[in-house]
Amino acid sequence: MKVLVVEDDVRIADVIRRTLTESGYAVDVAHTAPDGVQAFEIETYDLVVLDLMLPGLPNGGMAVCRRIRVIDKNVPVLMLTALDSMRTKVEGLDAGADDYIVKPFHLVELLARVRALLRRSPRAHAPVLRAQGVTLDPATRTAQRAGRTIMLTAKEFAVLEYLMRNAGTIISTTELIDHAWDSNYEGFSNVVQTYIRYLRQKLTAPGEADIIETRRGAGYLINADR
Ligand code: CA
Repeated sequence: MKVLVVEDDVRIADVIRRTLTESGYAVDVAHTAPDGVQAFEIETYDLVVLDLMLPGLPNGGMAVCRRIRVIDKNVPVLMLTALDSMRTKVEGLDAGADDYIVKPFHLVELLARVRALLRRSPRAHAPVLRAQGVTLDPATRTAQRAGRTIMLTAKEFAVLEYLMRNAGTIISTTELIDHAWDSNYEGFSNVVQTYIRYLRQKLTAPGEADIIETRRGAGYLINADR
């Protein structure tokens, strides 16, 4: 899952970026309203964390939110605000934000709201993802298979989560890079192959079937449960 953070306070932006990265999200940061809009126009994001008071455009975060809604009606937007006033909340929600969090906030609360918003998004349903005998818990970042708990690195988790959220759909290498790596990533697509190999090693005990299928020239697939 890839998140855009638009926050002009460099220190806060950095804490949010680190927290989200440690939880397995790919994160891009923009520090002004125009940079936020531009990033959203270029890249694909699964969620936006958007500060309300931003330099560079009249109405800062509200303007960014309206612009995002023109481009994408569905992407979840979590607004950050220092003002706990009814007017701000109503304006934020009217501008198309899905939820807001008042500064200063606890990082665990931010993560919980991010998970909740991603659950509501059209592609995601269950808090715990299940497919082919594997369950994945985004809250603890662990996978379970046949009674084993499998610890995953942030990147392994991001790749597996994306495949499981889209179970039944073939996902191309490019799409995986778009959703599991930040846009500064300049490596090659064989990095995806490498992470798929790590995941197969971790998920497959002797005698078990490989749940990740390779479709030559198309991408990777985890079948959905019937
Ligand atoms: Ca600000």
